Amino acid sequence: MAAGPGIVVTGASGRMGQMLVRAIHASEVCHLVAALEREGHPWVGQDVGTAMGGAAIGVTVTDDPVAAFARAQAVVDFTAPAATVGFAALAAQARAVHVIGTTGLSEVDLAAISRAAHHAVIVRAGNMSLGLNLLMQMTQRVAAALDADYDIEIVEAHHRHKVDAPSGTALMLGEAAAAGRGVVLNEVRDAGRDGMTGARRRGDIGFAAIRGGDIVGEHDVIFAADGERITLRHVATDRSVFVRGALRAALWGQDRDPGEYDMLDVLGI
Ligand code: NAP
Repeated sequence: MAAGPGIVVTGASGRMGQMLVRAIHASEVCHLVAALEREGHPWVGQDVGTAMGGAAIGVTVTDDPVAAFARAQAVVDFTAPAATVGFAALAAQARAVHVIGTTGLSEVDLAAISRAAHHAVIVRAGNMSLGLNLLMQMTQRVAAALDADYDIEIVEAHHRHKVDAPSGTALMLGEAAAAGRGVVLNEVRDAGRDGMTGARRRGDIGFAAIRGGDIVGEHDVIFAADGERITLRHVATDRSVFVRGALRAALWGQDRDPGEYDMLDVLGI
């Protein structure tokens, strides 16, 4: 008898997808019911273990989300916005917990996800690590303690393959800083400095993105005033922190009321 909730991994061939498949297969508290890839992907029809270059694990890669979700208690999804919005509706129909790690979601995407959350549990976080979620809370506290004499700048660094900027995590930190300061991020967000930008506007929250090599994810929140500077920093050195957080969310979401949750709910911090 397989242990714990049955989980579907979407985007099974991706960087996060492959780590999730390995972690769930090795887990004693949940089990893998399906590995999903898009139609036409070369892995479809193969055992996911052998497709990843290892031993067979008895789960065939499928391109049929409806059949896969029908057999699952949770869907763990680190793919792309268009895919995630479709999966949210299908996971809600199947009443499966949908754990969303995908970043770069638009306002329209988020509205569609909120509609799906009327019918099922959705846990969404731009960053699933415990340390980063603690950093978010510290950012909000420090921003609340300091006035706009302290310029807030968020600097993030990621690997060369990342397609969206600022990172979902940087935006979460920006939201936390804005909440601490009692302002709306979209009204103070400065994410596109290039050329003759003029002087910095008092109260703005600035973003800068570095892309290169295999950087897993680094975030600095800088509070810079005349004469002193505070920097809060988180460095992820291994994607396993996101995998652990996502699986914890999938288990936490079992038997909860439908709705939208984040990692602060899951971690209880
Ligand atoms: P990746 O290596 O590019 O993997 C994405 C996977 O999703 C690929 O296998 C891709 O397949 C698949 N995919 C895309 N569209 C699909 C569709 N319509 N149907 C089925 N599969 C589809 O990217 P990654 O590094 O794993 O990251 C994935 C996402 O997670 C990104 O948004 C990233 O920012 C986010 N992320 C979040 C966290 C967090 O803690 N929240 C941590 C790490 C990453 P193809 O190769 O065929 O396109």
